[in-house]
Amino acid sequence: REPGSGEHIARPRLTVVSGPSGVGKSSVVAELRRLHPDLYFSVSVTTRAARPGEVDGAHYHFVERVEFDRMAEAGELLEHAEYAGNCYGTPRGPVLAALADGRPAVLEIELQGARQVRAAMPEAQLVMLMPPSWETLVARLTGRGTEPAEVVARRLDVAKKELAAAEEFDEVVVNADVKTAAAELLTLVLTVSSDKLER
Ligand code: 5GP
Repeated sequence: REPGSGEHIARPRLTVVSGPSGVGKSSVVAELRRLHPDLYFSVSVTTRAARPGEVDGAHYHFVERVEFDRMAEAGELLEHAEYAGNCYGTPRGPVLAALADGRPAVLEIELQGARQVRAAMPEAQLVMLMPPSWETLVARLTGRGTEPAEVVARRLDVAKKELAAAEEFDEVVVNADVKTAAAELLTLVLTVSSDKLER
């Protein structure tokens, strides 16, 4: 393969899905999984406690803080971040194995982690899920109005910062409707990367 021949080695893509809390990331990713179960969906490690109905090894790998720190220090995590008092990270090995196997891989993570993936793997595709309007997000984050005003205010403040990061992303998908958003996301995920580093 001659340098500058214009040909590329086609490789399946790593797609990072991020977006503000309340935008519906997990619903859209769940719908994406229904549309295309053969994609690789990363299972994160986290130090937070399992919620009712969550299965260890399926939703997350639930680990103690010492184990999380060990994995981070051993370089076993592609990215990791603290969010709302808990640690979250993406195990590196399974993601690289899936890509090597020809399977597009999908990570659903928060903003700090998305930035780390961008730095570690510049060929990754960053997709931000956006609410159709600021008012929609406010309505979602305000919930039933049973929470203290300062808790809601803090969430809105974080959401505003997360939305402002959209310009760092390659693509924006608006989640006005879960099925439509998942279909748009699928098209992006299946786009093969012609990795500029491997020309
Ligand atoms: P939850 O505790 O509600 O499941 O997740 C809280 C936040 O952590 C969500 O925004 C979710 O996308 C993010 N998250 C889940 N797994 C990871 C991960 O492996 N790395 C990072 N950076 N964020 C994650």
